[in-house]
Amino acid sequence: MTNQQHSPALVQGTNFAFPAATVLGYPRIGPNRELKRAVESFWAGRVSASQLEQQAAELRARTRDHLVALGLTEPAAVPSSFSFYDQVLDVVATVGAVPPRFAHLRAADGSLDLAAYFALARGDDEVAPLEMTKWFDSNYHYLVPEIGPETELRLVSDRIVAEYVEAREAGVVTRPVVVGPVTFLLLSKPSDDAPAGFRPLDRLADLLPVYAELLGRLAAAGAPWVQLDEPALVTDTLDVPGERVRTAVTDAYRALASDLAVGAQRPAILLAAPYGDLGDNLPVVAASDVEAVAFDLVKGALPSPAALPAPSSESVTSSESVTSSATESAGTDGLTPGLTDSPAEQVRPADVVAGLARKTLVAGVVDGHNVWRADLGARLAQVEKLTTLGARVTVGTSTSLFHVPHTTAAEPQLDAGLRSWLAFADEKVLEVVTLARGLVEGRDAVETEIAAASAALAARATAAGVRVEAVRARTAGVAPSDLERGSAAERRDTQAARLGLPPLPTTTIGSFPQTTDIRVARAAHARGELDDAQYDAAMEAEIARVIALQEEIGLDVLVHGEPERNDMVQYFAELLDGFAVTRNGWVQSYGTRCTRPSILWGDVSRPAPMTVRWTRFAQSLTPKPVKGMLTGPVTIMAWSFVRDDLPLADTATQIGLALRDELADLEAAGVAIIQVDEPALRELLPLRRADQAAYLDWSVASFRLATSGVRADTQVHTHLCYSEFGEVIGAIDALDADVTSIEAARSRMEVLGELRDAGFGRGVGPGVYDIHSPRVPSVDELGELISLAAADVDPGLLWINPDCGLKTRGYAEVVPALTHLVEATRSARGAL
Ligand code: GLN
Ligand code: ZN
Repeated sequence: MTNQQHSPALVQGTNFAFPAATVLGYPRIGPNRELKRAVESFWAGRVSASQLEQQAAELRARTRDHLVALGLTEPAAVPSSFSFYDQVLDVVATVGAVPPRFAHLRAADGSLDLAAYFALARGDDEVAPLEMTKWFDSNYHYLVPEIGPETELRLVSDRIVAEYVEAREAGVVTRPVVVGPVTFLLLSKPSDDAPAGFRPLDRLADLLPVYAELLGRLAAAGAPWVQLDEPALVTDTLDVPGERVRTAVTDAYRALASDLAVGAQRPAILLAAPYGDLGDNLPVVAASDVEAVAFDLVKGALPSPAALPAPSSESVTSSESVTSSATESAGTDGLTPGLTDSPAEQVRPADVVAGLARKTLVAGVVDGHNVWRADLGARLAQVEKLTTLGARVTVGTSTSLFHVPHTTAAEPQLDAGLRSWLAFADEKVLEVVTLARGLVEGRDAVETEIAAASAALAARATAAGVRVEAVRARTAGVAPSDLERGSAAERRDTQAARLGLPPLPTTTIGSFPQTTDIRVARAAHARGELDDAQYDAAMEAEIARVIALQEEIGLDVLVHGEPERNDMVQYFAELLDGFAVTRNGWVQSYGTRCTRPSILWGDVSRPAPMTVRWTRFAQSLTPKPVKGMLTGPVTIMAWSFVRDDLPLADTATQIGLALRDELADLEAAGVAIIQVDEPALRELLPLRRADQAAYLDWSVASFRLATSGVRADTQVHTHLCYSEFGEVIGAIDALDADVTSIEAARSRMEVLGELRDAGFGRGVGPGVYDIHSPRVPSVDELGELISLAAADVDPGLLWINPDCGLKTRGYAEVVPALTHLVEATRSARGAL
């Protein structure tokens, strides 16, 4: 190992001091998506399991050495946060919580080999995979464990320990990172056979011994620290009463932290609370015996015992000096919200202060979830403020860095100014190391770095395009009437008269298969081998093919098929002012699936129409209506890196106005139906219920701003990619779209009941064809779903369409599936 000479992160005997600088996790996919390629090659049968293991070990080694070289040199500073697919699935595989339908894949000792592990994630011909869902307020998706009263919980995998040993033997003492027991159970769903009222959290007492055993093995292997991620403690939206969560935290960390001696039986524990603040859960975390707590000081506030409810005792005074200094605001930090005033849970601020004072507090001041360079001076002040609370304070990131790309060095094409405002994972590691040095050696020691960061921030604040007066003037002029389209019922009548559609109109969600020909043309165009005219001709030929196909199949409302779009967000980001796109800025969305979020850096405006030429061309080929196809403001923001220097609501207004102009141009070009997709509406929903109403207000307003400028006889559609609306159901109605298409095939139209109960009286297109599977549904199956739908929705409002866009499917499936869909609809019409 070359880092042998300059790396103090070598085994130096047991050292329980938490490192001065660390990150909560690091991208696992590899700087060139090596892991994606290796895993997909394994799936394709091109590499063996042992070759895959070998490639993964090499990637881990490079990552460790790289992090040490960047300055994470102390023992336990480098997180061991690798995963072949997903960190929640890793716990499933570690504790053996395998649903019965996968039982045959387990080895005799209960463990899962790599093929079995991936089968849980992806399913196979016979078994459905674990469900996948969004990880907190990020665009990462985890696999949902299924836990029932009978689920076996037993330590069946040593992988976490083995990865620690592998690193130590290579000379680096890492800090294993594991999803904590409370979060693991809170994110699980009850297994199918669980009785009503059962909660996965009911199994906590059975799970804790498994974690204790794991910690024991890590200790035996010499691990000084382990990180248990408990992000579930920063949200109150998980449908388990807060009191229940707090009891679980107390029980869990009593079992894991109190009863065992550090060193002999367990590593010291870092409890990490990324994505927000602990709020009401702060007192139980403070009261626990974990040795360290990591706070998200970017999204969350500085922990403030002063915000706790006043106790009835006289103990307030003892904490006053501490809390008053801790709560002086330095800009980015606010106050934690007050606790619920349940008397049974009443806590004394002095106890919280005392609990925190026994711990190392890791100040998560470098944003792991966004790409902006940190204001080092302000962040150092924030860290210093925390020292008034903890026994020791060190510096970290707010979240794992797996939400951001590896390095800005891989983006030489970016404007130099913009690049100097950015920090991707590697740059963030350097920021953490710098701040730690500032904390340990004093601010003067890092004066140069602070000055450089301040200069970059100052340049950013005044750079051309960041603040565009014309855009600000226009957003300031938005009036409430700009969000109104008048009576939905009247619109329905004029639209019906204009469109003359049959009952149960059929349509698709927008994209048609992205064929190899399309990709080849796009790549050749990017390389300059196809000129603009040739590329446009290739796209027009594709559109003509797709229109002809839809006419042949007999669909009623056609689409142009979106061949010109690399991605439904990036396409618009490339055409709007205020955005930049990266070349290599991949981040993991789930498993081996990566996305390349655009960077929203300035005020947004539309220099020219973005979609009109394609839609107009498509419409010129057919007498049937062609739907215009746009991506909504919230989805554009959710799938981009957003500004940290302007409220999200203001950016949403800017995008809303740009789209409003696009709708107007489409309308003027004769387009009678325009769909504005908002599949990410639920994604940005705040993790605290108290913040949700304000979010839903501005997100709905931005959609209405985009769509309310068109005439009453222009039909506005929206599309959402999910079927459980929960807290957003009111918002979906408030979008005021004339027609909403949603996912519904897998849940067999269950969502329609939810919509009916909420009084939803607009056009609705529940997906009858599940495009997430390569299966071609039969006419009978589709007919059955259509009659289920017709039973719940006024047939005058019902549309028939697939669940989502067809871009990931092949024509071999799409053509018969859509043919069946049209056939099933025709017979359903006969039965009306
Ligand atoms: N119009 C888009 C498509 O069909 C919608 C995709 C989505 O909802 N994610 O591809
Ligand atoms: Zn969709």
